[in-house]
Amino acid sequence: MRGRGSRDTGTQSAAFASRPVRTTVDMQAQRAPLMEVKRNLELSTTLVKSSSRLPLPGSRLKRGPDQMEDGLEPAKKRTRGMGTVTKVDTSRPRGPPLSAVSTAAQKGPRKTGPRGCSAVGPGNASTAPAVAGKKPGKRPAWDLKGQLCDLHEELKQYREKTQTLDRENQGLREQLREVQEQATTLGTERNTLEEELASVRRRAEQSQQKLETLGARVLELEECLGTKERLVQELQTERLQLQEERSTLSTQLEEREREFQASEAALSSSRAEVLCLRQKTAAQVTLLAEQGDRLYGLEMERRRLHNQLQELKGNIRVFCRVRPVLEGESTPSPGFLVFPPGPAGPSDPPTRLCLSRSDDRRSTLTRAPAAATRHDFSFDRVFPPGSKQEEVFEEISMLVQSALDGYPVCIFAYGQTGSGKTFTMEGGPRGDPQLEGLIPRAMRHLFSVAQEMSGQGWTYSFVASYVEIYNETVRDLLATGTRKGQGGDCEIRRAGPGSEELTVTNARYVPVSCEKEVEALLHLAQQNRAVARTAQNERSSRSHSVFQLQISGEHAARGLQCGAPLNLVDLAGSERLDPGLTLGPGERDRLRETQAINSSLSTLGLVIMALSNKESHVPYRNSKLTYLLQNSLGGSAKMLMFVNISPLEENVSESLNSLRFASKCTGTARCF
Ligand code: ADP
Ligand code: MG
Repeated sequence: MRGRGSRDTGTQSAAFASRPVRTTVDMQAQRAPLMEVKRNLELSTTLVKSSSRLPLPGSRLKRGPDQMEDGLEPAKKRTRGMGTVTKVDTSRPRGPPLSAVSTAAQKGPRKTGPRGCSAVGPGNASTAPAVAGKKPGKRPAWDLKGQLCDLHEELKQYREKTQTLDRENQGLREQLREVQEQATTLGTERNTLEEELASVRRRAEQSQQKLETLGARVLELEECLGTKERLVQELQTERLQLQEERSTLSTQLEEREREFQASEAALSSSRAEVLCLRQKTAAQVTLLAEQGDRLYGLEMERRRLHNQLQELKGNIRVFCRVRPVLEGESTPSPGFLVFPPGPAGPSDPPTRLCLSRSDDRRSTLTRAPAAATRHDFSFDRVFPPGSKQEEVFEEISMLVQSALDGYPVCIFAYGQTGSGKTFTMEGGPRGDPQLEGLIPRAMRHLFSVAQEMSGQGWTYSFVASYVEIYNETVRDLLATGTRKGQGGDCEIRRAGPGSEELTVTNARYVPVSCEKEVEALLHLAQQNRAVARTAQNERSSRSHSVFQLQISGEHAARGLQCGAPLNLVDLAGSERLDPGLTLGPGERDRLRETQAINSSLSTLGLVIMALSNKESHVPYRNSKLTYLLQNSLGGSAKMLMFVNISPLEENVSESLNSLRFASKCTGTARCF
């Protein structure tokens, strides 16, 4: 601003300097020549001086050296002129004519020689500049007129110069006014600019603060940038790793794609195969459905025929089994027990048993031994002492099938204590599969057949229970924990109001699905019996053990259900107390116990006979045993009685009792 202002001022100053200064001298131009000239000279000098002192800041009036020279020139000229006047050599003659003056003027001033007045007269305008620019030649003292002319000329020039200076002065004043106005304007502008400057400063301060803030922010951002750059570096590293991974994956993908294409090709061929196979399968499904129907029909027919066969064999059957002579036992006399072959010859399984009993009574007359009495018995099947457990089971496996077909089955082991009932039902010592009894074999057979029948759409489930009936009380042989060995408080109840199904309260009913589980249950029952044995002498042989397996079958596709119980009963020893024996106080309990056993066994016999004779009343309720088994006896139920016989002669009486009891049980078993 200042520079610009200076420039402007300079320009104005130059303009000012170039303008002519006008003064009031013009107005006084008509005054007396000599006095006026002097005054004008002083005035013009003053004006020149005053004009040089114009109060223009930065715009001092500058004048060129020639102007200054011009300003001072008149005074000098006057002084010279006056000097010249004083030094006028009056002795010299008047100046030559004008032409000579002009030549002298061209050659320079001459100290001597007159000058023609006509050459410098006021009427000759062409000579006027010569007065200002050239020093007039000295006039002789006597040439007053010429001197007057010179003075007039000089005055005229001064006047013109004064006029010029006046004009210049006026111009400068105007310029001054303009400059002042401009200065005012510039002052205003300066104020504005100062305000603006202050505003700008404030803004600058704000900007500075902002800048500082921004600087802090920049630092922060730089830190952030650093972090980001590190992150970027990490990311780039990661990116590189990923790129490598990607390339690996791409390679793998390409491989997979190739594999996939190969698989697709294989798949399309497989699809075609599948389509073909589906068609075949559909045809086979139809065929299978037809065959399933046929199979189902055949299965139903098989069941019907099987049942018919069992009924023809008799719903109540009696087998007789004679145990071998054990170590330490006396061998019976030959012919004591005879097993005549069947009607088809020696290969035919025996069904008859002949027991010869020698009579101890002697003939009263001759005192000779009486002849032995022979007792022949015929049963559905007779197993001599050498019969294996396997053979025995073969005969009853058909009944197990009946149980799966939905017919209740009851298998009893009857006989005196030690005749082999438990051996027949449960088997001999553990660990020998040959000695396994009916229960484990029947279970294995059941699970196996059930598995086979699952292929025909049948699903079977089994629930086992094992109780003993002692002195008309029921005890759970599968009791565990604190009830182990006790297992009392069991009652036979109907499963629900109006239900035919019977259940034993407080007894465990254990779902079983494999032989191992059944084996564990038999083991538990044995433990329970062993605990009881210590408390009550040989109670196991004085109680009935009833192993019950509830079989439930379902054919979901045809909405069929079947269910039946399979009962395997190890009866209490059938021996009787000798009525002739005198009983001590401790044996009275034994007598009551024996009476209870005999009562329940005879009730069983009566029930079986009533069923065999198809009597209207069957005395199930007369004993806990028949009451518990009533649903497994009679009707379409199958019953099998094993009569276990001791081979010893000393047990002949009990053997005969057993054989006679068994003979009553079925019409097919006959006593001769
Ligand atoms: P019960 O249960 O009728 O009292 P057991 O089954 O306990 O009689 O048999 C008595 C003994 O005779 C046992 O030692 C048993 O091993 C043995 N025994 C019974 N039957 C046979 C048999 N068929 N073969 C071998 N041993 C037998
Ligand atoms: Mg026994």
